[in-house]
This record gives sequence, C-alpha cells and structure tokens, in this order.
Amino acid sequence: MSESTTAPAEAAAPAPGAFGLLRLPESVLLGAGTLRALPTAVSELGTNAFVVADPFVATTPWFAEALAALEAAGVRATVSTDVVPELPVDSIERVAETARGASPEVVVGIGGGSALDLAKLVALLLAHPGPLSRYYGENAVPGAVLPIVAVPTTAGTGSEVTPVAVVSDPERELKVGVSSPRLIPRRAIVDPVLAVGAPAPVTAFAGIDAFVHAVESFTARRAAPDWSTTQPVFVGRNLLSSLVGLEAVRVIGANLRDAVRNPGELAPREAMAYGSLLAGMAFATGGTHLSHAVQYPVGAATKTPHGLGTGLLLPYVLEALRPETVPELNMIGDALDVPPGPAEERAIAVVAAVRDLVHDIGVPASLAELGVTREQLPRFAELSLGVTRLVQNAAVPATPELLDAVLEAAWSGRVTSDAATTPVRN
Ligand SMILES: [Zn+2]
Repeated sequence: MSESTTAPAEAAAPAPGAFGLLRLPESVLLGAGTLRALPTAVSELGTNAFVVADPFVATTPWFAEALAALEAAGVRATVSTDVVPELPVDSIERVAETARGASPEVVVGIGGGSALDLAKLVALLLAHPGPLSRYYGENAVPGAVLPIVAVPTTAGTGSEVTPVAVVSDPERELKVGVSSPRLIPRRAIVDPVLAVGAPAPVTAFAGIDAFVHAVESFTARRAAPDWSTTQPVFVGRNLLSSLVGLEAVRVIGANLRDAVRNPGELAPREAMAYGSLLAGMAFATGGTHLSHAVQYPVGAATKTPHGLGTGLLLPYVLEALRPETVPELNMIGDALDVPPGPAEERAIAVVAAVRDLVHDIGVPASLAELGVTREQLPRFAELSLGVTRLVQNAAVPATPELLDAVLEAAWSGRVTSDAATTPVRN
C-alpha cells in the first residue's frame, strides 16, 4: 500500500503517451450579464433566427427583453415553446417543420437541457433530411448543421458546449443519443442570473449531474486515439478534459449544497454555472460511463430525473472502480478537500465524501428507495451493457459481474466505508 497521497505523474508533467482533445464552441461567454451579448452573438450568424425556449422561460420579463433586443439588432425571431419533456422524436420533427416554414439562418436555444438539445436537433433537421433516426449514434451527421446559439438557464447538462442531444423514441426501449461534433453550438452564453430562483430539486438534480459528468470524464478509460482517422466523439480521459474536469469537481463540490439551500442567491449560481460549463467541456470529449449507462434503464423504469439517477449511482460506480482508480480518486479527494491519508484508505473516504454530497442535496440513497425490486436488477444490467459506448468508456471495461456489483450496491445503498462506520454509529 502506498503511503503517498501524491497525484499521478501528470500532475507534474504529462505521462508518456498522454494526449489531449477538446472541441469547443467558437466563443463561450460566462458571467452575470452575458445575456446582453445575445443580439450581437446572433446577428453575427444571421438576421433570421428560430428561437426554441422552455415554456417557463418564455413567460419571464428577461426573455421579452431579449427578444426586443434581437429585434433592435435587426434580427427577425420566430419563437417556439414546444419543448416536450424527454424530447419524444415526433415532437422534435414537429418543431423542425415549424422552423422550416420560417427559413432561419440560425437556431437559438434558451432553457434547460431539453431546450438546448431540441435547438441542436432542429438545426440538424433544417440542414439534413429526416427522419431523425438516421443520425442516432455517433458521428452519423454528414455535414454542418445550422449555427446554434445556446443559452442555458440551469447548471447541469453542459449542453451549451457538448456534441450530444438525447431523445425518446417509442421504437426504442431506452433513450437514444445523437452524438456528433457538428452539434456543438457556435456560441455559448452562460449567464448565471438566469438560474437564480430555480427550485431546489431542479438545482440539485441538474447540479449533481454536472458533478457526475466531471467525475466520470476524469475516471474514463485512457486509450490513445488513432490519429490517422476520424476520432470517436468520446475518446476517454485525456489531459485537456482532465484539466477542466477536475476544476469542475472542485467548484461544484464546494458550491452545490449552497446553491440548493439558497436558491435566491447569485454567488452559488455563478459558481455552479462555471462548474457545469467546465464539466460539459470535460465530458464533451472525455465522455461519461457507468452511472450514465445504468441510469438509462433506471430512468426508464422509475420515471425519475436523469440527474437523480446518475447522482444516486455515482458512489456505487466509484466503489466498483475503486481498485483501478486509486490515483484518480485521490486527485478527486484533493479537489473535495478530503483529509490526507494512505492512498487506498483515502480512496474509500473519497467515495464516502461523494455519497455525502449526493445525500446532502436530497438524492435518494438507494434504488430500493425508488421502488426498484431486486428482481429488476438483472434486466437493468443487461440493458446497461447494451449501451456500449458508455460501458466501454469506464476506467476498466465493464463486465457483467462489475455491473451486477454496481446494481446490487446501489439497490442496498451500501459502500465499503459503511462496514467501518456502522459499528461506531450503533
Ligand atoms: Zn448526465
């Protein structure tokens, strides 16, 4: 056992063979008041905009002001608030049809993750023929889409900088993704003022999902790409995604509880907007893995929010991967201010600290609490294994046994540190 809590070699210098890959919007604007940049950002891309906005967003005074500012800048805007939760594929094609009638040059998404994903898919369907199912999976978008301007109003999905949009298709048992660098928005405008006042559960589930994005991209597989060919959308852990991912862990770990408890305060929203943005940049190339793979069947069966599921599952995923990720967990421990100690013991404490964060913001502790029965677990494992791009992106390839271990622990709600602390508590 190592006594050192020192991070791996790349903390001082990149390890031999280490590589980096980031894909980003042309510009990313972050900070209170950046919404005022919207007219300039849009008018640089076109004078005819199709705006997709959450219905709630469209009732706010700031949205009306933003539309007026667009008009004053010479931009004609057609607005759709037809953002159906979970983005059923027929609703996407309906909005795209409306958009076609307006012949826009640029698509603007304003709202939560679904609104931004819908903007991406509308931009896709205006440039390439349907049906949308042609583009499911990775790298299936054949060329440029309409330019997209993304304005998130929650801190969570990171969709403003990512190459993915997730949809529901009744033909498929699980949700399905359209993943392509073509979908990365051209401009991201991240104004934390827009999230002030969001209810605690929205803040909690979106915020913890951003944390999961950061942690999973940091504990993803390491495999140097074949640079002579088109890269996969998600290439695993790399120097650049790790840099922003670890900073996201630090910022979200220090501020998420505060954002949930004090919904009206700007400062924790500023921190969460920053952390969520960085987490989105990290997983946009690093990718996510097992919490996301297992959330697909859990979310489908329990009808629970995405972030509730990924947040609930993360401690158990880290527990299952712990033997293979002691150095990474120690670096996460540094970011979360977990006290120093022998590396392997500290890795156990880091998993416990992650679980504490998840619990403190109101995420249920176990799948049993969601009403899942033990008999459902084998089917969940089977369906998770089918999400190959995610299960193959973990630090070690996920075997059926590993997924069984994750699901069993998540169902009962126990991690290793419980064995040490339970007798003391009792
Ligand atoms: Zn997620």
